[in-house]
This record gives sequence, structure tokens and C-alpha cells, in this order.
Amino acid sequence: MSSMTVAKLRCCDKCDAPRTYRQFMQNHTTTPKLPAPEEEEERDICAICRLPYGSENLSLMMLDSRLAVTNLAGCKHIFGAACVKWLSRDSCTALHQRCPLCRTEWWHEKDPTDPDTDDQTKHTMSEQLARHWETDYSTARYFMYREQEYRHVYPPLERVALLASLKMRQAIGTAVMTDAIQLRLRKLQEKYVLTIAELAYDPMEVSLEHLMYDPFTFNNYYLSASCMRSAIYQTLTSMRGERLWQMYRDMVRGTQAGHEEYSLGAIERVWMQMFPGDEGDWVRFLLQVLEVAYPVVKADEDARMYENDEEEGLDQAYDTWD
Ligand SMILES: [Zn+2]
Ligand SMILES: [Zn+2]
Ligand SMILES: [Zn+2]
Repeated sequence: MSSMTVAKLRCCDKCDAPRTYRQFMQNHTTTPKLPAPEEEEERDICAICRLPYGSENLSLMMLDSRLAVTNLAGCKHIFGAACVKWLSRDSCTALHQRCPLCRTEWWHEKDPTDPDTDDQTKHTMSEQLARHWETDYSTARYFMYREQEYRHVYPPLERVALLASLKMRQAIGTAVMTDAIQLRLRKLQEKYVLTIAELAYDPMEVSLEHLMYDPFTFNNYYLSASCMRSAIYQTLTSMRGERLWQMYRDMVRGTQAGHEEYSLGAIERVWMQMFPGDEGDWVRFLLQVLEVAYPVVKADEDARMYENDEEEGLDQAYDTWD
């Protein structure tokens, strides 16, 4: 799968395969001549932000002037330069971006969480993670890349919370990539194709921001794999997500105690009665993810109850702290 992607991105002598954002910008974009002054009143619009070319992008403090894709098989489109730059910064699209109109691959960056990534990337990623988790740089960097020189001492309580959060992320990430969940995701994509086709033309709308307000109304199954993981994670770790976990736990415990028969459908029905505004397909899908992720998270919770942590270096840190 990934080797096919790489072959598709081979384009010219100057780019690597896969092509990076920087190479895309340097080797495959030009700035077309501005229209003559009399044509300016009929300026066409950037297909990403739907504003006339030359509009000001306030977040980037730059003009959305024309940027033409060039010398790239399949794509000859023009977009606003600020919008293309914006795509390279958005967490959902920065690593991998296709043309919003023709879907030709524009760039495909290496995964910055890979331990083989360059030092500058490691630095940037660790700083971001430290901010996100409100922790210190060394802790974030050690969690991300496992480099020995960053195995520092930090408060044990924070360690436990970080480990739990990391384990849950891993469990959800693994669950999402299993064949069973991927198959369900494809079924949802088929079902939602019309809704999503509209969204696909406006990457600004594809942002995950709305998840911050009400993650259970999510219905965009056409996001990239990393964005889907993020959407699932955000929903399952929200306030109401905790409640879904709890209902699932209760159900499993009840079944073990021989009470009721275990059923995802039963949880879904109760949930939809409580929250009729939620997206039923999303709730059902999350329950299927929980079914796969739960044993992993539970095993970790059990292990932590016995303080039996396989992170030796962190145990050492714990001892030093005491
Ligand atoms: Zn190239
Ligand atoms: Zn634009
Ligand atoms: Zn295109």
C-alpha cells in the first residue's frame, strides 16, 4: 500500500519520493501573472476559502494570491497561496495533502513521530506535545522518541496520567487499524458519500474543530486515517465519552456476573434515548471501536493496580522522586 503511494508521487528529478511539502512548493508551484487592472473586478475566487484572490488571510497575515500547480501529472489547478500554506500547517492535512479539486497527491511528508526523523522535527514535535499535555519538554520527548538522554525525573502522578493517556491512544489507534474496524469504516464511507462529497471541496470545513463542541454529532468518515484516530480519540475522551466507556464497562461486568446478555445494541439504544441528537452511526461505530480497544485498556488498568509497570526507566524515575 505505502509503496504504491510512493511510486505515484515520483514526478521530477528534484523531488524525493514521497515528495515533501517544501519540494511541492519549490518544484511544482508558480505564481501566475496578475490579471490586468481592468480585469480585476471580475477576479475569480480561491476554491479553498471561496474568497477572491488577493484577499487577506488574517491568521497567516498574508495575501491569498494565485498559486498555480505546475509540472505535476493530473493537476493544473490554481489556489490561493495562503490557503495552500494553511493546509501545510493544519494537523489533519499537513502530512499528506491531495488537490482539493482533482485529488492528485500534492505532498506526503514522513511521519514526524518516527524515531528516525531528523532532530529539528523531533524538537518541534516534542515542544508541541509538551504544550498539549502541559508537561515538560524532556518528558514529552522521551515519550515520543524514547531517547535515553531525555529519561528525566518528573512527578509520579503525572507519569501515571501520561502513561494511561498514551496507552489509551495506542489502544484506540490499534483498534481503528484492525480489519474489522476498517471494514466498518468503509461501509460508513459508502453510506455517507454524498454528504462528504460536499465537504471534500472545502478543506477548511474538514477541520476537526467542531469536535471540540460536540464530538458525538460527528459524521465525516472521509478524513485521513490519522484524523479519524483523532476524531475517535477526542470523542471517547470527552465528558460524554467517559460515560460511554462506563456503560460499556458496566455491561461487560454485568455479563461476567451472569446478569444480562452482552450487547452493543442495548447500549446504543439506551444512549440514543438519552441523547437523541447524536449521530447513531457514530455511536454504533464508537462502540465497535470500544469492543476492540477495551481489553487492551483494561489489561493496562489491571497492570497499574499492581504497580507492575514495564517502563523500567520510569520506575527508576519514580524511585528517584521518592
Ligand atoms: Zn517533483
Ligand atoms: Zn483561499
Ligand atoms: Zn488539482
